[in-house]
Amino acid sequence: GQVLLEVKDLKRHFDLGKNQTLKAVDGISFDIYQGETFGLVGESGCGKSTAGRTIMGLYNRTEGEVTYAGKNVHTMGENDRYAFLRNMQMIFQDPYASLNPRSTVFEIIAEPMEVHGLHKKKEDMQRRVYQLLEDVGLNRDHANRYPHEFSGGQRQRIGIARALALDPDFIIADEPISALDVSVQASVVKLLQKLQSEKGLTYLFIAHDLSMVKYISDRIGVMYLGHMVELTTSDQLYANPLHPYTQALLSAIPIPDPDIEESRERILLEGELPSPINPPSGCVFRTRCPMAMEVCANVKPAWQEQEPGHFVACHLYE
Ligand code: SF4
Ligand code: MG
Repeated sequence: GQVLLEVKDLKRHFDLGKNQTLKAVDGISFDIYQGETFGLVGESGCGKSTAGRTIMGLYNRTEGEVTYAGKNVHTMGENDRYAFLRNMQMIFQDPYASLNPRSTVFEIIAEPMEVHGLHKKKEDMQRRVYQLLEDVGLNRDHANRYPHEFSGGQRQRIGIARALALDPDFIIADEPISALDVSVQASVVKLLQKLQSEKGLTYLFIAHDLSMVKYISDRIGVMYLGHMVELTTSDQLYANPLHPYTQALLSAIPIPDPDIEESRERILLEGELPSPINPPSGCVFRTRCPMAMEVCANVKPAWQEQEPGHFVACHLYE
């Protein structure tokens, strides 16, 4: 596929005053191809949501570049920006918090189209909203109800319908299923997959663990404390995880087969995620890494391609 989004050495630092800087995103690089699902994974506080927002231009960047369809999203002109904001949409973790409780479902879904001056005739707008409701597995009877009348899974469907309203090419889904019951997670994932194939969408799918991302992502990037530590295809990441952090994340996923489950070794990470305000020197993972060596405290590991398309930042592979 063609590269749709290019992220190059992106940094997003927040100046906290008193000589303190929160390095939420501290130099990450990756490409996303047209039509793929790219999973961005890491514990909460690793910077993945900030990365998503910075990519969308909701936060300015501190350093580095984000290019969408060949255009720099932070410096593009007004017309390009307008088109970009239609093309890239976001789905949020908590659908309830992102839906206005005083608006009907119809108003919620119609709003972005009104803002962009689309479907000015009432019947056109109505047809479009009903179509979007059908696309996400709801129907026109839901249009005049309010968000509180729906279950979590249905609310997420409303959020998805709104994200689709402007007919985007690219969707950033920031933990879209984390707040849902396990029983409805799979149905929302299936919906996202169906919409992807019907509409040719490209996804950046943000998640805090590797359990569900495995099934939906073509490639996965693993983040830790503002850094990308490993990136490869989903299959390769599961078959041959290189970074000790990825290995620990994978070992934490339960396997349904009790025989495998029993013989498996859990890698438990010691300690807490350090603060991104004063991150560890050298390798940011070293305070919790079971393999840490002397060099890890002094030298930041380089981001290097270990095998074709498989990137890792760790001194074990240098
Ligand atoms: Fe562990 Fe060192 Fe590799 Fe960091 S560079 S992950 S501390 S072995
Ligand atoms: Mg988050």
